[in-house]
Amino acid sequence: MKFEDYHINPAIKKALDKLGFKKPTDIQFKAIPPILKGEDVLAIAQTGTGKTAAFAIPVLHLLHERKQYARQDGIKCLVMVPTRELAIQITEVFHTLGKHTRVETMTVFGGVEQAPQISKLEDGIDVLVATPGRMFDLVSQGHIRLERVEILILDEADHMLDLGFIKDIRDVLRHLPRKRQTLFFSATINEHIKDLAYSLVTKPIRIQISPKDPVSKNVDHSVAYIGMDDKRFFLERVIKENEGSKILVFVRTKVRAERVFAAMERVGIKSETLHGDKEQVDRLAALNRFKKGEVKVLVATDVSSRGIDIPSVEYVVNYDLPDVPENYVHRVGRTGRGTQKGKSVSFCSPEEKPILDVIEEYLGKPIKVLDIEKQDYNATIDFSSEVKPDLKSLMKEIHDFEDATKKKKKPKKKK
Ligand code: AMP
Repeated sequence: MKFEDYHINPAIKKALDKLGFKKPTDIQFKAIPPILKGEDVLAIAQTGTGKTAAFAIPVLHLLHERKQYARQDGIKCLVMVPTRELAIQITEVFHTLGKHTRVETMTVFGGVEQAPQISKLEDGIDVLVATPGRMFDLVSQGHIRLERVEILILDEADHMLDLGFIKDIRDVLRHLPRKRQTLFFSATINEHIKDLAYSLVTKPIRIQISPKDPVSKNVDHSVAYIGMDDKRFFLERVIKENEGSKILVFVRTKVRAERVFAAMERVGIKSETLHGDKEQVDRLAALNRFKKGEVKVLVATDVSSRGIDIPSVEYVVNYDLPDVPENYVHRVGRTGRGTQKGKSVSFCSPEEKPILDVIEEYLGKPIKVLDIEKQDYNATIDFSSEVKPDLKSLMKEIHDFEDATKKKKKPKKKK
């Protein structure tokens, strides 16, 4: 079935056509009809499946077709998301798909000044995309009225729980009308998530988009055994061998992100970092430079990268293995999107082997191993542009130092 056969407003079809979206993805095919009917939906679907448009298309249609239209009444649809980047990305999808509709969408998130957000809210909006913390602040201060919300969407609900947003979510929910449509999206499902989900939805339509192999067929992914201290040399090699490609490098912590950045700088490779310690404006600027291709290497932590749609990344490097096995799938899923092909390599040090075992168990099969011969391994380190102190120059430095100190100590001859 094509989008042109759907019963959705021509204003939205026009935007879909412009984007080149002809057929719905699996999740869109399954979720759009029940959402249009006003049913609750509980969907297990990963980023990259087209889930944003799966809810944006029917919501835009429902709001655009309303007979009585009073924006000043308050917000009609609330989308709660875990991160600022995801909030911006979803808002962009609403703006693009809703370009020819009369639906107004805006986003609020923490880490930036409140005042401009408040003045825009006062003008009246239909769809609000928000992170739970800032959202709760604005609700408590009376700047956001939620009593007219008809549709509530929780996206990446599992991630919101990981980030400790459960109290904020519950506090916000107290302000919503009981009678409403709820759409619940989560990449993973466990007891905790189930409890939250079933406390929110009534008689939901359940949708699960989980291919047998969680890693897309378009991604050629492998693991290479590399000592912790040698990883930087191998990253340098991957980057130099793939010149011109967009490479996303994942590390475990913010500190490691900055270290990798510095190590690359030492060998003349320009990169950007993306992690939670950075100011919001800096994170967005870094992401934009990477999106535009001005910078080819982005070093990121898991939290800062989840749910972000970075177009056409050719290569994903797991510089550190992720502690949570699901994150392996999220990380390598940054490449090989849609119909494109992608590559990924994970650097596994001896101490990370147990983590690799857990990931492979989660995937249900082993990851292809890249055999690096000893000679090749040593050559990678030797050919690095990093200046390593060799013995000869070290000895010369010592001699020079000794000479200099001797000269200083020589007593001046008495005249
Ligand atoms: P999401 O899972 O919402 O992050 O979407 C992943 C990617 O799929 C985005 O780059 C979308 O632009 C793209 N996409 C979503 N729906 C379609 C569609 N029906 N046809 C082609 N691409 C799509």
